[in-house]
Amino acid sequence: MILAPVTLEHGERYGKLTVLEKVISKERGPTYKCGCSCGFKYVFAKASELMRGRVKSCLGCKRAQR
Ligand SMILES: [Zn+2]
Repeated sequence: MILAPVTLEHGERYGKLTVLEKVISKERGPTYKCGCSCGFKYVFAKASELMRGRVKSCLGCKRAQR
């Protein structure tokens, strides 16, 4: 497993999410703020979560899909 820090580019898309900016969270370390295609712009996820497909949309969309 590769543990090297991953850098995502602004505008990269993962599922419904588009990377907007990198933020440093005290609890979680480097985190990315993403905008969902539904218009919600406050989705925070780590690079690994986005790249593995663990986070693909905001919580509202995730709930709507179930
Ligand atoms: Zn959404």
